[in-house]
Amino acid sequence: MAVSDHVDFNGFMEGVKRRNPYQPEFVQAVQEVAEDIYSFLDTNEEYHSQQILRRIAEPDRVVSFRVCWEDDNGNVRVQRGWRVQNNNAIGPYKGGLRFHPSVTESVLKFLAFEQTFKNALTGLPMGGGKGGSNFNPKGKSVREIQRFCQSFMTELYRHIGADVDVPAGDIGVGGREIGFMFGQYKRITGQFTGVLTGKGLEYGGSLIRPEATGYGAVYFLMNMLATKGQDLVGKTAVISGSGNVATHAAEKIVQLGGKVLTLSDSGGFIHDPDGISQEKIDWVKTHKTHRRGRIEDYCAEFKSATFTAGKTPWGVPCDVALPCATQNELLGDDAKELVKNGCKAVSEGANMPTDLAGVHVFRDAKLLYAPGKAANAGGVAVSGLEMSQNSERRSWKEEELQQMLKDIMAGIHKSCETYGRQGDGYIDYVKGANIGGFKKVADAMLAFGVV
Ligand code: NDP
Repeated sequence: MAVSDHVDFNGFMEGVKRRNPYQPEFVQAVQEVAEDIYSFLDTNEEYHSQQILRRIAEPDRVVSFRVCWEDDNGNVRVQRGWRVQNNNAIGPYKGGLRFHPSVTESVLKFLAFEQTFKNALTGLPMGGGKGGSNFNPKGKSVREIQRFCQSFMTELYRHIGADVDVPAGDIGVGGREIGFMFGQYKRITGQFTGVLTGKGLEYGGSLIRPEATGYGAVYFLMNMLATKGQDLVGKTAVISGSGNVATHAAEKIVQLGGKVLTLSDSGGFIHDPDGISQEKIDWVKTHKTHRRGRIEDYCAEFKSATFTAGKTPWGVPCDVALPCATQNELLGDDAKELVKNGCKAVSEGANMPTDLAGVHVFRDAKLLYAPGKAANAGGVAVSGLEMSQNSERRSWKEEELQQMLKDIMAGIHKSCETYGRQGDGYIDYVKGANIGGFKKVADAMLAFGVV
């Protein structure tokens, strides 16, 4: 009998905590997966004996580096940058870059770990990675952002490559920042390759990439509702965030006949009982992305709305909820409130927005509940399609890409059903996503032996 057979779940988690002190987000993400995977490991003795879960929960490498830049007043500023390359068993590392003051090694390790399963679920050949910096883009001039992006890439370039590691955007990194970083990569290496995704259409980007995460989260929601013979027509939706994912999720909900009641940012949330129409969403996009404004300004523009400072929107009664801002923004009590108010489905646009207590509330209540690694995989899926287009040196049409995105989200839903359906018929999407993603990566790792 292999030594690892004797390591029970608690023993495994004790080891993860011991080896990763002061990294609560990473430990949380590993625990959520391990809770589901542990019994599945028994289906193949080799998963145990080859220590597959332990190996996936240990990043291939974590690169940490200094990023120096000069602000507009000539002051030297020093930031920390990272790239976490978690696992490349099924393809080059792939995952976004986040620029936000809350970024730490723990946050990026959790995101890279989650990304490994998410990317596997898409069915595309992509490993898992994540990177970023504690740089705060808020309040910075465009020139300062450009200088920072160039300095960041001056170190990052040596760790990435079209067949090695292909970063994308995330919080604080949109098309503009990708442009600055791609330009610097090209300047340093002299190569025009698909080393980043989320690029502008003029230089190798893909149609529908900006929309893909939010749209995908709503397609996944539709797949879940369809298992109950329902759709979005006439349903009310509560959404958090007001960035890329939130605004595109809102847009798709409206297109499919639903009514969006809320959006939020780090200052609080707005509640518009009249519904947040396409015109209002367009205003939010411009105000938040281009003007870098605050969501509370919505109320001055649209009088039907109210703003609640310092709070999340989960107390507003709704049929469906989409957390689309950041990790741990929906806690156990919020989950209880949503269930009490009759919410039927939750589709996570953000990564790990629900804490472990909240996850347990949703699963115990047998809600239709899709974790981020399944529901928000549309973004990385279209990034994968951008890589394919770059390799082929051609661009696919919007209708083709829309259909591929829908098919990929339906495929992920199917995987969740296959591995997550319980004896009473309930689909445990968390379990389904964890096992579906794990199996693919694990089987590839078994093929490679001990490496
Ligand atoms: P954006 O930077 O475009 O928007 C982030 C939004 O979340 C903003 O409204 C921001 O408010 C809010 N927010 C950020 N941090 C906090 C916080 N601590 N508390 C409350 N609100 C906060 O990012 P994205 O929309 O791209 O990303 C949102 C989530 O989706 C993240 O979890 C990301 O990892 C995930 N995701 C994104 C993908 C993509 O394709 N972009 C792909 C898959 C997942 P404020 O303006 O005040 O900072």
